[in-house]
Amino acid sequence: MGWKTILYEEIGPVARITLNRPETHNVQNARLILELDEAAEKADRDPNIRAIILCGAGKSFSSGHDLSPIPGDELQQDYRERHRRSVEDRLGVEDEYYLNKCLAIRNLKTPTIAAIKGNVVLGGIMLACMCDLIIAAEDTRLWNPSIRHCGSGGEVMVLPFEIGFRKTKEYLWTGDLIPLEEAERLGMINRIVPNDRLEAEALKLAERIALMPPVSVALTKRAMNKAQDFMGMAMAFEYQYVWHQMAHATRESADWNAEASKHSREKGFKGWLEFRDGPFDEQAKKKY
Ligand code: ZN
Repeated sequence: MGWKTILYEEIGPVARITLNRPETHNVQNARLILELDEAAEKADRDPNIRAIILCGAGKSFSSGHDLSPIPGDELQQDYRERHRRSVEDRLGVEDEYYLNKCLAIRNLKTPTIAAIKGNVVLGGIMLACMCDLIIAAEDTRLWNPSIRHCGSGGEVMVLPFEIGFRKTKEYLWTGDLIPLEEAERLGMINRIVPNDRLEAEALKLAERIALMPPVSVALTKRAMNKAQDFMGMAMAFEYQYVWHQMAHATRESADWNAEASKHSREKGFKGWLEFRDGPFDEQAKKKY
């Protein structure tokens, strides 16, 4: 308890966990990831909690992972250093913070609903997709531009299982936004609601599920998650996770990062983003 980056509320049988770094669009630093894990576990252990809502304070659900320095935060310092020190240290830290913590949310016995809005980018998509149901506000921007910066689609490759393999290749290989209506049509999102209805609709759905017999709900969840695993999801996550580590360590990635850091030194993160997305913005204007 005493969490700094998470809000935890109980609304009758519903636990609502809010990512609470609104000034950063809820980018996930080390502390937030650990606190979210603790909060989710607390809700899952509580027999009075029948559904969990995961949402974001401010304008966005989450803009991804945050590896930036936070003065005085030793946890963040250690996380950053391990991410940079060596391939094996990065493997360890991404195992601990990304893969395992994501899977822990997926494997909660309590049903989870992600209420998403604004930026849902990179690690934000990963996190939302660990939830059983997703309700999206109309202003949601689903975006995984990881291959533009020589990544490999993220640490946990959720998209093929959400929107299909062919569509995933298109969106990863262009780095374009995934249109929200398409995400809904393909089954990634349960429904889209007006921005000002997001909170109420997520709560309504959670309260509806909370009326159902909880043991039966939990058993069904377990069976369906297992079915996805038997269909190859668990193995695919593991396999992609290792290839993702390779993507961090390629010559291509080293060259790209060296060039990008020149732009960051000149103009900060804005310069980095311009270097990454500039060529594609030009393409987008031409509509291919
Ligand atoms: Zn990574």
